[in-house]
Amino acid sequence: MQNKEIRFASRPAGMPSAETFQFVETDLPQPGDGEVLLRTLYISVDPYLRGRMRPGRSYVAPFEVGDVISSGAVAEVVESRAPQFQKGDVVTGMMGWRLFNVAKASELRKIDPQLAPVTTSLGVLGMPGLTAYFGLLDIGAPKEGETVVVSGAAGAVGTTVCQIAKLKGCRAVGIAGSDEKNRYLEQELGVDATINYKNGDVAQALKDACPKGVDVYFDNVGGEVSDAVMPLLNHGARLIICGQISLYNLDKQDIGPRPQPYLLVNSALMQGFIISDYASRFPEGVTQLAGWLGAGKLKYAETIVEGFENTPQAFIGLFSGENLGKQIVKV
Ligand code: NDP
Repeated sequence: MQNKEIRFASRPAGMPSAETFQFVETDLPQPGDGEVLLRTLYISVDPYLRGRMRPGRSYVAPFEVGDVISSGAVAEVVESRAPQFQKGDVVTGMMGWRLFNVAKASELRKIDPQLAPVTTSLGVLGMPGLTAYFGLLDIGAPKEGETVVVSGAAGAVGTTVCQIAKLKGCRAVGIAGSDEKNRYLEQELGVDATINYKNGDVAQALKDACPKGVDVYFDNVGGEVSDAVMPLLNHGARLIICGQISLYNLDKQDIGPRPQPYLLVNSALMQGFIISDYASRFPEGVTQLAGWLGAGKLKYAETIVEGFENTPQAFIGLFSGENLGKQIVKV
């Protein structure tokens, strides 16, 4: 049987395109001792992969041209040469964008399809859910009655942040790129107010939505949306820098209004983080998120594109907001 994989074909200038990727047929790999052969079921496409397409130092090594793209995935064990896994087990871990992968058993986690749909291990119970949980609670430390503003509010991380803010008794204000997404946030997730940043005066809309100012800002997008939040900061505000997706495809560094004066006069804290900083606390986060999910206190949305061949397009679609909640590819 032949395998298929998606390689990094060329470094994009600006927005990635079909030319960024190359489909290649290869032989089926064979597992060695301590390894398993996996058939990919679902692939997670994530904004941070754009960062790996740039050369230079970051928190993960860049892709080299010719590398197989890799990200989180869910797969089924087809053949096991490791005692901890059996044929038919469903596992999650980092995997190449391939139909079949060989992986070390020690780098995989078994998932129980009875507990929750397996795709949740890529979204609300996986990396994005944990990012929302630790970023908001550990850095943002929201208190009852405070106003929490979330940019990228209708995405995988953002939808979870909005709901945790509500669970903590806060006023949640979401910023997203369509009225339809904002309706979902308000009607399904109980977000108190929303702003469509593609429509009208964001600064004025934020002022209207935050009559008592902003205590916590969970930033997924950066750029002009974040600039509009700065004048509304309250004393002691916390700004969580989770992502800057509006900048990921820029070739030149973006220079906007500088935030320091706003931080200074409000004794505010701005802190970036990478979710792997919290790796030792993941079990705590998953237990809490799964508890809320099981109790019906936490909802999630997924946008599932069908077909391995559509993986590059699903990734590119993140930059035009084609997804509501977690973007996943069903292989
Ligand atoms: P999302 O599910 O939120 O998908 C990306 C969303 O970003 C799109 O749906 C789109 O929604 C929005 N977007 C795209 N381009 C722009 C733009 N130019 N301006 C404003 N919004 C834009 O992705 P994730 O939930 O996986 O990630 C959210 C953010 O968190 C990303 O920035 C990501 O890099 C970051 N992240 C950081 C982690 C960390 O460890 N610090 C871990 C995981 C994610 P819309 O329709 O609203 O425009």
